[in-house]
Amino acid sequence: MTKYAQHASARKETPQMKEAAKGQKKNHAGGYTFVLDKWSALDRFLILGAEGPTYYASEKKHVKGNLKTLDKCLEEDGVRTVNKIVEISKEGRAPKNDPAIFALASAAAFQVNERGQQAAETRKAALAALPAVCRTGTHLFQFAEDVQALRGWGRSLREAVSNWYLSMPTDKLAYQVVKYQSRNGWSHRDLLRKAHVGAGQGLAEAPQAVLRWLTGGVDSMGARFVQRRDGKDGTYAPINPAVLPPSIQGWEAMKKATTAKEVVKLIAEYNLTHEMVLNDFKKDPKVWEALLVKMPITALIRSLGRMSAIGLLKPMSATSKLVCAKLADEAVLQRGRVHPLALLVALNVYQSGQGARGNLSWAVNQDVVDALDAAFYMAFKGIKPSGKNHLLALDVSGSMSWGEIAGMPGITPRVGSAAMAMATARSEPNTHMFGFCNQFRELKISKRQRLDSAIKAVSNLNFGGTDCSLPMLYALQNKIEVEHFVVFTDNETYAGRQHPHQALEQYRQKMGIPAKLTVVGMTATKFTIANPNDAGMLDVVGFDTAAPAVMADFAREGFGG
Ligand code: CA
Repeated sequence: MTKYAQHASARKETPQMKEAAKGQKKNHAGGYTFVLDKWSALDRFLILGAEGPTYYASEKKHVKGNLKTLDKCLEEDGVRTVNKIVEISKEGRAPKNDPAIFALASAAAFQVNERGQQAAETRKAALAALPAVCRTGTHLFQFAEDVQALRGWGRSLREAVSNWYLSMPTDKLAYQVVKYQSRNGWSHRDLLRKAHVGAGQGLAEAPQAVLRWLTGGVDSMGARFVQRRDGKDGTYAPINPAVLPPSIQGWEAMKKATTAKEVVKLIAEYNLTHEMVLNDFKKDPKVWEALLVKMPITALIRSLGRMSAIGLLKPMSATSKLVCAKLADEAVLQRGRVHPLALLVALNVYQSGQGARGNLSWAVNQDVVDALDAAFYMAFKGIKPSGKNHLLALDVSGSMSWGEIAGMPGITPRVGSAAMAMATARSEPNTHMFGFCNQFRELKISKRQRLDSAIKAVSNLNFGGTDCSLPMLYALQNKIEVEHFVVFTDNETYAGRQHPHQALEQYRQKMGIPAKLTVVGMTATKFTIANPNDAGMLDVVGFDTAAPAVMADFAREGFGG
């Protein structure tokens, strides 16, 4: 209780429009909140991104604030920044890899005059991390686009890009380059040229064949006499096209296919993905049935509507059972880095029965909806429930219904927080959900509900101002024994007569419970209601797949631990 007593000493009540502690800053709504340290702010950026505006800040302002954070982190410790980028990207903690790719490109272009040594180290670490962060051809194109805007194609960058191609096992490389042939005006041929990757000396026959194929197609396999960059002449020995890896062989055969039957055969023989199938055959259920056998889980999740539309997911069909079984396989979900937000978007779209652009409609198979619902919970990293009493408090004020998390269609911070809260409600045995704006709102959500109905329950609320002290005041007024307050919010609080951390202190003191508070930040701003000097308060990022597990650990640990 000693640490608790320390915090209980303050009984102040400061209106949220006034500063209550040193280091607080005015948030976008005009209230005063604490400011996240730069590393926590970096986490928010890497996970939530800065796409689109928030209720209070234009997209430009939102992006600018996040870039400043990134620069500050790079300046303080570039290698630590790169390690963080790699960690979040590799573990699949963010709904999108784009912020990580952008941050990596920034690190690869980082320049600091006074500390040149550190800047060189940072660039080196960033370039060495290229294969870890840019795992697909699309990621690599995105990186090229980002990095080119920030720096020139010097030797270290060329080597890093060469290394991306040359260090990958040949079959995997072939799969990547056929699956993602071009993006945003970039092709592999462009990149190979930029990076001066020659299909030359010292390479084994198969990778040499892939590189030659990328620059000149199957016709470039014959003996070639080329002018080398160093001015000397080089001769390339002819290569037998039979050494080309299966993905390329399959794609070459696909280009000549004329019937769906042939296409089905090629898919099975060469493990082709839907990107490797000509559009003419993509309406054929037999083709999709063949694709489904080895379809990567992320592609499967994105193709549910299309597969239903062509009649492949009829209730109780073998294909429907296969799809549901794949969605129920936790190992498959984890291996495929399936993010819960991707499942939430898929659930939203699939159960609506029509595509986002309205050109596709389908009969909804409820088994698939249930499978998506269950998969959502599995996509969070292993949560060990704490058993503590949780008050899950959802900020449902107006600002929470604005914008989209990580640019994901239909997922406002409010919808996102309902889904995140469900993840904790499902895993923790003792929870109570509570909604607030500038007053208490009853949320008719139970943990047994399916996600889509929980979301519906918060979607149609039309609420006003924001007072993040309400969860604590509500628990105090009603003498509810809470050990862990979890507040899902954008931290743009201003309406209360006291600050949230003051309300928490009051609650602890009057109830005699050393309650903790976790703030789940739903937008990538630098604001937080959590007092950084109070070990009983924690910041996590909304839709960080690791967040529910971190919160459970925090709830379980001794106070001040
Ligand atoms: Ca608000």
